[in-house]
Amino acid sequence: MFKKVLIANRGEIACRVISTLKKMGITSVAVYSDADRHARHVKLADEAYHIGGSRPDESYLKVETLLTLAKRIGVDAIHPAYGFLSENSGFARACPEAGITFIGPSADSIEKMGAKDAAKALMEAANVPVVPGYHGEEQNPDFLEEQACKVGFPLLIKAVSGGGGKGMRVVNAASEFANSLDSVKREAVNAFGDDRVLLERYISKPRHIEFQVFGDSHGHYVHLHERECSLQRRHQKIIEETPSPFLDEETREAMGVAASNAARAISYLGAGTIEFIVGEDRSFYFMEMNTRLQVEHPVTEMVTGQDLVEWQLRIAAGEALPLTQDQITSAGHSFETRLYAENPNNLFLPSTGKLSHLRFPQADKNCRVETGVEEGDVISVFYDPMIAKLVVWGENREIARTRLLKALGESGIIGVENNIAFLETLATHPDFIENRIDTQYIDAKLDTILEDSRIGLPQNVLLAASVRLLLDGQKMVSSMAEAADDSNSPWFDTTGWRPNGQSERSLFFRYEESDDIEIVVTEQANHFIFHLENDLDVLIEEAENDVIRLQIDGCWERFITLRNENNLLISWKNRWYNLLEVNPFEPDLSDIDGVSNIIAPMPGKLLKVLVSNGDSVTEGQPLAILEAMKMEHTLTASFDGVIDQVFCVEEDFVEADATLITFAED
Ligand code: ADP
Ligand code: ADP
Ligand code: MG
Repeated sequence: MFKKVLIANRGEIACRVISTLKKMGITSVAVYSDADRHARHVKLADEAYHIGGSRPDESYLKVETLLTLAKRIGVDAIHPAYGFLSENSGFARACPEAGITFIGPSADSIEKMGAKDAAKALMEAANVPVVPGYHGEEQNPDFLEEQACKVGFPLLIKAVSGGGGKGMRVVNAASEFANSLDSVKREAVNAFGDDRVLLERYISKPRHIEFQVFGDSHGHYVHLHERECSLQRRHQKIIEETPSPFLDEETREAMGVAASNAARAISYLGAGTIEFIVGEDRSFYFMEMNTRLQVEHPVTEMVTGQDLVEWQLRIAAGEALPLTQDQITSAGHSFETRLYAENPNNLFLPSTGKLSHLRFPQADKNCRVETGVEEGDVISVFYDPMIAKLVVWGENREIARTRLLKALGESGIIGVENNIAFLETLATHPDFIENRIDTQYIDAKLDTILEDSRIGLPQNVLLAASVRLLLDGQKMVSSMAEAADDSNSPWFDTTGWRPNGQSERSLFFRYEESDDIEIVVTEQANHFIFHLENDLDVLIEEAENDVIRLQIDGCWERFITLRNENNLLISWKNRWYNLLEVNPFEPDLSDIDGVSNIIAPMPGKLLKVLVSNGDSVTEGQPLAILEAMKMEHTLTASFDGVIDQVFCVEEDFVEADATLITFAED
């Protein structure tokens, strides 16, 4: 077995790999960029080395730097995890040439599966069903249109080198074909430098069901069952689960055999995933193979009881697969969900900033928290804005779903916008509970899901928010008294005495778009009297960190309360509520318009800057293209004018609200 392994990655997945290395007694080596100097993966590793600037191309993508370092410090093997260099065949080839084991498949396997047309041809030859269509060499547009008519409509044009959901277009009729072909080719050349396409029947209301496969260097191939990832938004997975609630035993069995055959067909080494698209009639087709560890691998670990990173290490070290197909079992049900720094109410734009408060559920055998950040860390523009993955297990789907909700209700974040409320809405939605979903579900129903996530504010939550403010106030008062070292000081008295001689107070809150809500309360030592329609006497008990318990109408209720100045985040019965404490006597300045300059609407990377100082532009003209969350956003002029200054260049990483381009005064 290896003695020292370098993880060529960052974030939660680097931490995940380190935990297995520790368990196996292998020295773990982390690498880090400028932005990650104090990151969690750096603290967890046995050794950590700085490799360059914050941009991925200055650090985590630098093959030469990584290999030079690995050789210098005597590393036996490199684990690429996912993203970055994990599917880079050049890196997979350079490692063994430098005498270091690449923990993954051969460069040859990565290349074979890298082009969608060649992969489909290979799978066809191995008797793995592929989506009917055309995936040949001939790319003449007229010929492609002929093929399209044979395939039938609707169909999908896919860039052969596409990935990340880019370079795909649905065509509904022959008359649209030529135009759609042009636009896919244009997008494909820009994004992947390759304009070749394939044609595929468009499967309506499909499921995304993938199989975890493994191969060893002794000619053994197995699968570790499936994961269903149909809950997606723009082809990005949101909640994954295993087993798939959609499959019957017969289809599951057939897909498992097909997946193992796919791995065998390319003499695959290590961990890989065969992605299938499954029709409403349970017909299934190979879609693509991911030649790496998958983001959602933990759900497989929860039901099989296996450590997939350990399997990867053993196989890379030349050992045989730890189990045969018959020995691999699956018990219970598991869900994973991804907590992202993004704003569901504003097109899911990523959000950056300091995680001033970060709270996760207590991990146990039924709940795993996979994260690369800690309270106080910054979600930056440079990397994927994933904050954590929550992974739960239960005896059946409903028990697991209840634990998922509980895990979400115990996870609180202040400092960046995030998708927790959106996930809570999904996880309680009848369509999710009853499994009436497909890969197009969220995009089709987004408006109603967002509407549903705007839930009313329960009175109990308002009480908890008030209590949290009042308790904080009492603590401040008593610490002032302690500082004054005078226990007779009136500051020390918590019985309701106030400097102004009154114990009744008014607090004002705003929730979503509500008018200001006023709460009138009288403070007592360990209970408060709320003056609502009738007076309500509430008993108070402070429990563990950030948790308060209130006895309301004779019933004890538990609340998590996170607070950052006037921002209050309250969790009650596994739902989060975001309230603002307001001072109704202060003028509201938020509506005053700024000047009409071009501001980055989100953090991201500038792909194109299309204008220069002094250019005249017309309304609607594209000025720059920003890439964020694997999507491109075009920034356009909102009026006719003259550019004064351009403050950015292509390839810049920019923060949200950065001024990119200013207009000359007219
Ligand atoms: P998977 O196919 O493993 O489920 P996704 O489809 O969500 O992963 O993401 C596809 C690719 O996006 C990954 O292979 C990786 O390149 C990139 N990616 C996703 N999440 C992250 C992350 N947190 N850090 C870096 N790259 C990521
Ligand atoms: P990428 O490399 O970008 O991940 P994939 O080929 O894996 O591209 O497809 C991404 C997603 O697009 C799938 O998860 C599925 O939701 C959808 N998709 C792909 N092929 C089809 C198809 N033939 N019919 C309907 N939807 C499809
Ligand atoms: Mg895919």
